[in-house]
Amino acid sequence: MLSYSSGVVKAFSRDYRNLAAIACKKKIVLAQNTTYGLGGEAEAYFPSSIAAAKAVCGYLSSRGSKIFYIGCGSNVLASDSGYDGGVICTRRLKGIVRAGDGEIFCLSGTTVAQILNYCVQNGLGGLEYLAGIPATIGGIVAMNGGAGGRYICQNVVSVKIFDGITRTLSNKNCDFEYKQSTMRNINALILAIRLSVFDDLPNNVALRISEYMQRRVKLPKGRSCGCVFKNVRLKDGSLMSAGALIQRCGLAGFGHEKAFVSAEHCNFIINNGYSASTVRAVIDDVKQIVFKKLGVMLEEEVVYCGKF
Ligand SMILES: Cc1cc2nc3c(=O)[nH]c(=O)nc-3n(C[C@H](O)[C@H](O)[C@H](O)COP(=O)(O)OP(=O)(O)OC[C@H]3O[C@@H](n4cnc5c(N)ncnc54)[C@H](O)[C@@H]3O)c2cc1C
Repeated sequence: MLSYSSGVVKAFSRDYRNLAAIACKKKIVLAQNTTYGLGGEAEAYFPSSIAAAKAVCGYLSSRGSKIFYIGCGSNVLASDSGYDGGVICTRRLKGIVRAGDGEIFCLSGTTVAQILNYCVQNGLGGLEYLAGIPATIGGIVAMNGGAGGRYICQNVVSVKIFDGITRTLSNKNCDFEYKQSTMRNINALILAIRLSVFDDLPNNVALRISEYMQRRVKLPKGRSCGCVFKNVRLKDGSLMSAGALIQRCGLAGFGHEKAFVSAEHCNFIINNGYSASTVRAVIDDVKQIVFKKLGVMLEEEVVYCGKF
């Protein structure tokens, strides 16, 4: 849980009363805010400015609430019983501007699709590998996401965060690792990101985006969070596909009608029912079976929200 100094909390206290107006608080159903389509109710805030986002953090912290940040919810399995803290949904915190030579500045709730549209319109290359990932840039940066052997840490110049105070972290200070970053370790809210890009012809950028999209055509259909497990780091530092390990254990299609391991890509677990606990049970079973058969304990990439 975030905990701010009393001075910070006091300063935010003055703003509480206006909070509903600036951050649009509502009761949400998490199922409608995650790609899994699962999860119960939560109290959520939709700040549309950096000032509002910080005010919500201060407000929730002063109340002693836990805070969960959600972008597109494309890597989240939310509990059937919902979340008993405050959820900050960043999707209204969006916008992109050119930030000097070879850089763009994006608010964290801007989606990958919005950024790539901007890049095509303005002839900016370098981010095409993100094409088709159903995410906000804040979510991608928090998770150090990527595709085709490229990760967002290769484009991040700096990240503006809030963890009681507003700070700008250089790429180095983000401590990016495979599917990990400082921001996740300290549960800081990512407000905005500066990304490196390069000038190119719009047609070239559009072409590369469609090539990356083409590679994704074969991804499993159905409700999922993409890859459930992290790839496994071997002693020599290389990564071994978790999907391949699951497949080697004969688990393609494992599960039942309501939640099952995709036969096309064994690291996808598809939700075809109504309960997060059913999906969680399949995840736990897969972990146990892979451990028993191969002695490898898989680690979740999916982020759990709420109690299971
Ligand atoms: C069909 C499908 C395909 C996918 N393909 C890929 C892929 O090719 N590559 C890949 O890397 N991932 C992929 N994913 C997974 C997912 O899209 C990524 O993990 C993405 O980074 C999540 O972004 P999001 O905005 O949805 O974040 P969420 O899922 O909402 O959140 C993910 C995590 O980031 C945190 N977070 C989100 N926003 C912020 C913020 N502003 N500040 C601080 N923390 C924040 C959340 O608290 C949570 O811990 C795929 C998912 C699906 C459903």
